[in-house]
Amino acid sequence: MPECGKTKRHWALSLRHHRQYRPSEHVTKTIHIIGGGPAGASAALAALREGASVNIFEKSKFPRHKVCGEFLSPGILRALGNFELLGAFDALGPSPVRRATLCFGRREKSFHLPESAWGLSRAAFDHLLLRAAEERGAVVTQATATSFDKPAVVARGRHFASTARERGQRLFGFKAHFRAAVNDAVELYFFNGCYVGLNAVEDGLTNVCGIASEHLLGRFGFEHDELLQACEPLRVRLQRAERVMSWLSTGPLRFENRFRAEPEEGIYAAGDALSFVDPFTGSGLVAAVKTGTLAGRFAARGKPVEEYLQSARAVLARPFAVAGIFRWAITSGWAERLAPLLPGAAMFRWTRP
Ligand SMILES: Cc1cc2nc3c(=O)[nH]c(=O)nc-3n(C[C@H](O)[C@H](O)[C@H](O)COP(=O)(O)OP(=O)(O)OC[C@H]3O[C@@H](n4cnc5c(N)ncnc54)[C@H](O)[C@@H]3O)c2cc1C
Repeated sequence: MPECGKTKRHWALSLRHHRQYRPSEHVTKTIHIIGGGPAGASAALAALREGASVNIFEKSKFPRHKVCGEFLSPGILRALGNFELLGAFDALGPSPVRRATLCFGRREKSFHLPESAWGLSRAAFDHLLLRAAEERGAVVTQATATSFDKPAVVARGRHFASTARERGQRLFGFKAHFRAAVNDAVELYFFNGCYVGLNAVEDGLTNVCGIASEHLLGRFGFEHDELLQACEPLRVRLQRAERVMSWLSTGPLRFENRFRAEPEEGIYAAGDALSFVDPFTGSGLVAAVKTGTLAGRFAARGKPVEEYLQSARAVLARPFAVAGIFRWAITSGWAERLAPLLPGAAMFRWTRP
């Protein structure tokens, strides 16, 4: 069980589309969930639906900001619909994203998304899911779990050792909200080996989020505003924009998965704790909700971890592999040269879970 702070957090907001689910016949147990982000909260919702009791341990007080592009892939509506959360999602005022613009130096590639995606802050999105889980019976404890009982869903986000890259080469993510001209596109600017993405979120705000190496950030004195000025089209785009919050940053980032890790009985890893895909795909959140849902269901039914991992791999393996190829194309400079030929909508589809 978790060792520190035992404060129970109660989010007493009601959800309009909540319905009691009929418990499955096989389930009698308590599922312990480490991390109340999108993967953990989805695992809780799925396990509750199976009739299990659920304990969630979440170290942060929600709602809270988080470094993220805040781009929700189209598949999110189906995933939220499964939990009867479409009405509650809609009430938060997510911004529709219908187009993508990829800007490589002087070259630009624009295309329509096959289906509408959405922009919504992590403060709002994560809170929606965790609150729903609590409303439906999960016990949420604000604590850092250092050990835990089984069966457990481990959904504590990225925790891979950061040994793959040397200092300077290590990658860091950063984000801030701006008041800027709003449109219905996700805009990705690739420059100096880094990229910065923009899309509208709720309340007329635009999220600006990027990933850059320590070395590049150092060249700009770790001043993110200065870094953005180095990309001419981005500088023009944000000319009259006003930043409304301090920059947040996170890292080092390492794109890695644990698909082949030795399964440990009673421990179901979900979301980024299972696989962290390059964020330019904008597919991490849907993957977290999907693998969280699978993990919660498998844990509640007492199914073997190996079987769960097979199902999770089937969801995530292709986007992970395709993202790796695109990352190589971006860092080697080939993406800029091939930009006019890139099949935008197909690329988008291949990187969905
Ligand atoms: C720079 C950047 C940009 C991104 N942009 C996008 C995007 O636009 N679209 C997209 O879909 N994805 C994006 N992603 C990926 C996305 O953020 C992740 O895939 C997603 O957050 C995974 O959800 P999760 O629930 O697995 O982990 P998290 O969201 O990290 O949640 C884990 C939770 O566990 C808690 N926790 C951790 N350890 C403990 C502990 N020991 N005890 C208790 N609680 C604990 C944390 O406080 C946290 O709330 C981006 C990621 C980065 C880094």
